[in-house]
Amino acid sequence: MATPLSATAVLTALRAEGVRVVEVGNWRTHNRNSKGAWGPVNGSIVHHTVTRGTASTVAMCRTGYASLPGPLCHGVIAKDGRVHVVGWGRTNHAGGGDARVLDQVVAESYGSRPTPPTKGNANGTDGNARFYGWECENLGDGKDPWPAAQYDAIVRVQAALCRAHGWTAKSVIGHLEWSADKIDPRGFSMAHLRADVAERLKHSANWSPGGKDEPTAPAPAKPTTPKPRPYAPPRFPAGLAPGRQSPSARGLQRALKKAGHMSAAIPEADTYGPATQAAVARFHQAHPAYRARGVHYDPAVGPRGWAALHTIAYGGKK
Ligand SMILES: [Zn+2]
Repeated sequence: MATPLSATAVLTALRAEGVRVVEVGNWRTHNRNSKGAWGPVNGSIVHHTVTRGTASTVAMCRTGYASLPGPLCHGVIAKDGRVHVVGWGRTNHAGGGDARVLDQVVAESYGSRPTPPTKGNANGTDGNARFYGWECENLGDGKDPWPAAQYDAIVRVQAALCRAHGWTAKSVIGHLEWSADKIDPRGFSMAHLRADVAERLKHSANWSPGGKDEPTAPAPAKPTTPKPRPYAPPRFPAGLAPGRQSPSARGLQRALKKAGHMSAAIPEADTYGPATQAAVARFHQAHPAYRARGVHYDPAVGPRGWAALHTIAYGGKK
């Protein structure tokens, strides 16, 4: 259970995950919040649109139609892999679904797939309050192909949400797993998608499958890929406690300055002192998803926080 990400936070998370985002109109405030609850959020639902053509698909998902006003999702994942964000807040994508499935998603307790739903649109639990929704451009006939770029974007979007909330891939379901009335998405299996999201979550947000990776866990005994970098990644957890001396402190300070959380006038030092600690606190306040242990003044930057700070500071660069 979680407070929904803000529009700014989701944009940051998507871009950190390497998603190419297209912002559509007033998407940040385009929603159905006046019609019902938004949040707490428990997961994300993947759909297919039964449409062809990106421009018209995006327009429909933004505006909706007479019997179902838009936005019809948060983002449209197009054939070319770009993600068009059309709304933020409550959107008309999930309708009614099965409360048992919701429980299983909340607990992330199921095996390869949740219990098949027996409730649907007419008699189910309100899913629009509880799920992010992603409409993927596809005819849904089982023949229309899913280009690699599009499938990769689906994985990245779901991983970005899971990473930001600290969820596993089991927080990602297909509409067909939520509602007995639905068959989408068709053409790939949700179990397979979840496996790909889970694999992605083992790596840092800027990981490219088959490419090199930033360390997301405390560095192993043997350092990997010694490549010139604009900073020295801190060692966890002992290397960077307040008051400690470590060359890693300079790397942290550089990243905090680059990300705008520390004044450039403060000289770099091997000491994790009060100025560094204050800057870490500002970073945690600005990016609540990466708060160490949920405490925003906690001086520790964990591996996830470091990966996030690095991505914010240096973009996708390694
Ligand atoms: Zn759907």
